[in-house]
Amino acid sequence: MGFSTKAIHAGVEPDPFTGSIMTPIHLTSTYVQEELGKHKGYEYSRVSNPTRTVLERNIAALENGREGLAFASGMAAETAIFHLLKAGDHVIVSRNVYGGTYRVGKLVLDSYNLDFEFVDTTDLQTIKKAIRPNTKMVFIETPTNPTMEITDLAAVAKLCQSRKLVSVVDNTFATPYLQNPLEYGLDIVVHSATKYLNGHSDMLGGLIVLNDPQLIERLRFIQKSVGGILSPFEAWLCIRGIKTLAVRMDRSCANAMEVALYLSRHRKVKKVNYPGLVSHPQHRLAQKQMRGFGGMISFDLGTLENAKKLLKSVRLCALAESLGGVETLISHPATMTHASIPLEERNRIGVTDGLVRISVGIEDVEDILADLKKALAAI
Ligand SMILES: *Cc1c(COP(=O)(O)O)cnc(C)c1O
Repeated sequence: MGFSTKAIHAGVEPDPFTGSIMTPIHLTSTYVQEELGKHKGYEYSRVSNPTRTVLERNIAALENGREGLAFASGMAAETAIFHLLKAGDHVIVSRNVYGGTYRVGKLVLDSYNLDFEFVDTTDLQTIKKAIRPNTKMVFIETPTNPTMEITDLAAVAKLCQSRKLVSVVDNTFATPYLQNPLEYGLDIVVHSATKYLNGHSDMLGGLIVLNDPQLIERLRFIQKSVGGILSPFEAWLCIRGIKTLAVRMDRSCANAMEVALYLSRHRKVKKVNYPGLVSHPQHRLAQKQMRGFGGMISFDLGTLENAKKLLKSVRLCALAESLGGVETLISHPATMTHASIPLEERNRIGVTDGLVRISVGIEDVEDILADLKKALAAI
């Protein structure tokens, strides 16, 4: 079955009672049991809910994995994954991951004696050197946020298998339409479903997909124990959003390529980070492991002053955090998504004061370009 067919049909059955083609929203906390120990597979909605089950089966199919798990947000999903660890464990993380991943590792879980180390995962030797006797997990994001660094999925999978480390990929930027990390041998894929999977900026959600039966059992146990589950209504919004993922991503990728080319030729733009550009240092790797280059671009305007001017002048591009919706969003990572990272660290990873991030939506590209052209003229 092709990707679009799976996106629309996998895990989805017409309602057996009414024929309703759309998945019902099962707004219920509990389920009536026929007699002691005899039920229809559902007991309590923290453990499982039929609407959530449909989404979990659907995302598992899209990532070609055994099992999917849905959470209230991307961060709830990531935190569930970090609950696989024990006090004293060391985790290696891509150096410019999502700001929230940095925050939960460095500013929340550090007090539980978990040691998060942020390294340049684009270089396999750097990961190897960072491995210690107490290292248990490697958590990568590719492409990274916001500098679009690419990590070699196959190489990380191989290294983690040989050292018996749990490997995790944040696949939010690529989505399963462009990249399937489990096929390269990685253990766990995590998504902020808030972004491209939902695609309409009207919910928050997090999804995990994995294959290993032991890890599945443990994560299911963590999910029902800690309880950061996705609500039935949000699950339904996500099921609906995923149905159009392929067409939205195609348009987003095509628009982003045009925007990246435009920016790369503009004299006021110092640097453009987009894996689809031949000038991107890992363009070939991106070509190898991705089926498209995505809708995310960042570019450097040199100074905070210039970035401010641009962000003040855009009209169509909305100044907002988040990404992956149908509308084009523009943001300033250093003061918005990555504000919790200290200045020195930010400069080291390329999140400079002049850096602007754009999530290219699916509007007519001429309108996006015209908006950027006018805003760049204001600098
Ligand atoms: C947004 C985001 C997250 C966090 O997801 P929420 O749904 O906001 O909790 C994690 N990783 C990446 C790459 C993101 O963009």
